[in-house]
Amino acid sequence: MPSATGSSRATGSSRATGPSRPPRSAIVIGAGMVGLATAWSLRNHGVEVTVVERRHPAAGASWGNAGWLSPALTLPLPEPAALRYGLRSLVSPESPVYVPPRPDPRLARFLLSFTRNCTPRRWRVLAATFATLNRHALEAYDALAADGVAEPTRPAEPCLLAFRTAAERAAMAEELEQARAAGFSIAYEPIDGDRARELEPTLGDGIGAALELHGQRYLNPGNFVRALADAVRERGGEILERTEVSGIRDLGQGVAVTTSRGQLRADVAVVATGAWLDGLVRPFGVRVPVQAGRGYSFSVPAEGAPTRPTYLAAQKVVCTPLGEGRVRVAGMMELAPVERPVDPRRIQAIIAAARPLLRGIDWEARKDTWVGARPCTPDGLPLVGATASPRVYVNGGHGMWGVALGPLSGRLLADAIATGTSPAELAPLHPLR
Ligand SMILES: Cc1cc2nc3c(=O)[nH]c(=O)nc-3n(C[C@H](O)[C@H](O)[C@H](O)COP(=O)(O)OP(=O)(O)OC[C@H]3O[C@@H](n4cnc5c(N)ncnc54)[C@H](O)[C@@H]3O)c2cc1C
Repeated sequence: MPSATGSSRATGSSRATGPSRPPRSAIVIGAGMVGLATAWSLRNHGVEVTVVERRHPAAGASWGNAGWLSPALTLPLPEPAALRYGLRSLVSPESPVYVPPRPDPRLARFLLSFTRNCTPRRWRVLAATFATLNRHALEAYDALAADGVAEPTRPAEPCLLAFRTAAERAAMAEELEQARAAGFSIAYEPIDGDRARELEPTLGDGIGAALELHGQRYLNPGNFVRALADAVRERGGEILERTEVSGIRDLGQGVAVTTSRGQLRADVAVVATGAWLDGLVRPFGVRVPVQAGRGYSFSVPAEGAPTRPTYLAAQKVVCTPLGEGRVRVAGMMELAPVERPVDPRRIQAIIAAARPLLRGIDWEARKDTWVGARPCTPDGLPLVGATASPRVYVNGGHGMWGVALGPLSGRLLADAIATGTSPAELAPLHPLR
């Protein structure tokens, strides 16, 4: 295990020389889906792992998200249409994408860089990268299930994308066709509103068209991440909760990680702190900003709510059955500081958008109101790999898709750390790009 010593000053430095032998110990910072999946895979390689988490497992975005494992929809966030949304969001707080008007040079830099990625040509390049990753995303879940993670993933057969009109559906179908052209494997079929209501009687009469999407899965994210934490512990990994990391130092022969409970040492460190990534990795040459794309969710009683994963695509509202008699309703992309509390207007905006299209939901019986921050990069690709220090790694910035891609990126990064050879899939995700 990494050794605890007296506390010391946290500074970053980079060294050109890599570890001379495969690392025997690792400190993983952050116990969300991404950090825990990395820890789990590192244990598979026999690396001693300590996960350091400032609160508890699933304290961040990995709790209240929509839980879709949908390789068909795991697409780059920057897209030509995002610009249209972006402009609308500047004038309408009810828009599903909201940029609060305030002077923020950091956000301005992020938006400028994001905008540069919103061209059709960039989209094709980025989508091709996602296509390669998506091919293995569900396999990575199967490996977790086969090897002791008790919480199941469930087939969404089919999941439904519901629209008011055939014209709205056509825009989504076009995007899916473009994704196919970029290498995605997607099985879907258009259906009319009546057929959609047969499948999902809670859809209102306002739904005039839908897509059945096949081969996707979903999960209860909070339960899954807790089960993953249990599996890490069962494999001999340690999880230090209520322990905040303030800095990492490259010692040449290993790393020193400064925490609120003193200093820890190990051969390598992996930073997997989601939307809190920037501060810890910037000293190690990572310049790609990670911006909080805050999303909101709450749960409603299952009775009267969709029985299968259902996406009101134009409204950008997702419904996911959680089991336990509840259905999660999630949506909104608010580019605002990560630590801001819940803004009740965002919840009302989700309800206002979804209420006319879903019948039977008891909106007043909602619980578990939550805000969480998607860790968004300007090009929509996660940051996975070594930093300027060969002993400090990053796994983060998965944006809208850290649940779908967390187990895969955890496995790829653990392979890279343990073998010293980076899998080809990680090349476009290099943290120093
Ligand atoms: C509304 C909503 C819906 C979503 N739906 C989906 C979906 O359907 N499918 C999908 O694939 N993705 C979805 N996402 C995205 C997904 O939730 C994220 O991409 C993913 O959870 C990121 O995981 P993570 O482990 O990188 O970050 P997090 O889960 O945020 O974990 C980071 C952890 O690091 C800890 N931490 C931070 N700083 C420190 C520090 N200094 N020291 C110690 N610990 C620290 C935090 O407490 C936290 O526990 C959704 C997100 C939102 C908001």
